[in-house]
Amino acid sequence: MPEREARTEMIKVCKRLYQKEYVTAYDGNVSIKLSSNRFLMTPSGFCKGDLTERDLIVCDNEGKNLSGAYDVTSEVVMHLEAFRQRPDINAVVHAHPPLATAFSLAGISIARCILPEVIFTLGSIPTTEYATPTTPENADVIKDLIKTHDAMILDRHGSLTVGKDVWSAYFKLEKIEHTAKITFVARQLGSIKTLSSEQLKAVAVIAEKFGVQSVIQDCFNCGACGKEVSESSDIQHSDKNENVIENVSNAITNEILKTYG
Ligand SMILES: [Zn+2]
Repeated sequence: MPEREARTEMIKVCKRLYQKEYVTAYDGNVSIKLSSNRFLMTPSGFCKGDLTERDLIVCDNEGKNLSGAYDVTSEVVMHLEAFRQRPDINAVVHAHPPLATAFSLAGISIARCILPEVIFTLGSIPTTEYATPTTPENADVIKDLIKTHDAMILDRHGSLTVGKDVWSAYFKLEKIEHTAKITFVARQLGSIKTLSSEQLKAVAVIAEKFGVQSVIQDCFNCGACGKEVSESSDIQHSDKNENVIENVSNAITNEILKTYG
């Protein structure tokens, strides 16, 4: 993509990020690959809603500022790692979508076989390990997952999405937050039913046509794919929590009955 066009599209995406409240204050960063050693990036310390094309910077594949008046963000390491691992992508969007991030705080994964349309567009939406902000750990935690996923939640931090262009990376972020919203509401309404393995197999056939690689093998212990549900699954955790709550409330009721009954 010519640099001028890349600048225009990046600013449009930045404004959308801020309008949709996927970032606040100086949060988030966006990058576009201009060539193998030139990357257009949002500068550090700017509100994405106020950025102009002139504020953008160009850095090399080690994060060194090549042009532009402002500083390279410390989160550049994450973007460059994504470009290193994925020669097929041309853009990276990092944001702080509130609901999806809240799921990671609660220790609940949204990488489940629940929404067929999400499965065949994104595969699953895994959550990375925790990384200390501004450190190279941010590159380490995405290193493996980025090979097979275009969209992921960064533990206690936000989201990372990649695509063939900046809009494709941005729309994957919209999908993440929308999935988090639907999952959140469904959890309030009752327990979430995952797709059956038959339904999932049918979705996988379509996904393959879309070139999505991560279907089935990466679902987070939902069991729909026939994979054994492990002890670490948060389905089990939430059951455990419910048991704890039930046990505690039973114990309190018994005590009250003993005293006043
Ligand atoms: Zn961030």
